[in-house]
Amino acid sequence: MRYAINEKKERVEVSHSGEMAKCEICKSNVKGRKGEQRIKHWYHHERKTIDCDDWHEPISEWHLKWQNLFPKKNREVTITRKKISHRADILLNNGLVIEIQNSSIKFSDIEKRESFYEKNNLIWILNGNNLANKSILTEDIFHYKYKLSISIPKVFEFVENYDFKKILNNILEDTEIGYLKSEKNLFEIKNENILIFKFIEDEITDFHLRDIQYKYYVACVYERLYEQIELEKFRKLIEIEYGSINEKICELRLIKKYWKKFIDKMRYPIFIDNLNGINENEIYYYSKNKIIDKKNFIDHYLKYT
Ligand SMILES: [Zn+2]
Repeated sequence: MRYAINEKKERVEVSHSGEMAKCEICKSNVKGRKGEQRIKHWYHHERKTIDCDDWHEPISEWHLKWQNLFPKKNREVTITRKKISHRADILLNNGLVIEIQNSSIKFSDIEKRESFYEKNNLIWILNGNNLANKSILTEDIFHYKYKLSISIPKVFEFVENYDFKKILNNILEDTEIGYLKSEKNLFEIKNENILIFKFIEDEITDFHLRDIQYKYYVACVYERLYEQIELEKFRKLIEIEYGSINEKICELRLIKKYWKKFIDKMRYPIFIDNLNGINENEIYYYSKNKIIDKKNFIDHYLKYT
């Protein structure tokens, strides 16, 4: 561990090897160790190598770098719950715990930590250098060139309880139009009543024919729901357009190699530092597939110190 309590009851780091202090959790004597090989730390010399916090892990340079971004009072803070104590890597004033994970961790330990810190709320920061060094973040670029839009009337005064959303859902579920929602295509609903499909290639060669077909499908759905009430009028209100567009969409994709399965067992937000494919001033928000500016990320959490 990084901090222990000295004779003056101050939380201190090791200043020289052999220095004595007391553990904040179990109050037993701890000895300072400072050498070339390992980062200076306090250890429970009376208990041999066993730390009273059984989640204890060796301190790493990377670990220190992250902890040092936060004030001392927020680093390695003891949290006690039901007489069990653990040292959180970083505890913010709003209760959030930041766990800085440099090495692999067992599924069962992830579960234990997440449930212990549940009341606090938690985020994980993983060291990509150690935990994902064969994986790489890349960007896929999709170029959409064609757009089909199908617009359904939002109101139709001839039908009592007319429900355009119901028609829309039925179109997507039960007609050939729904099949346009393939993996390669982009699909969205605009203004609640317009179905939009974007294509990379020209998928609708005979638009005139498709126009008739799609209007027919939509009208069939309408007929099924509302019988033939003003069916022709309804059909005329359907608007279908097809044309070229020029839209590029970049999507981040993490290529996982020798991926550590424990990472996907974490239920709380995961951020990966030192990941191949991002800059040093960025951090990858794995749970949301987003790159975040590291400074913004840190500043956001520093508000709670
Ligand atoms: Zn102890």
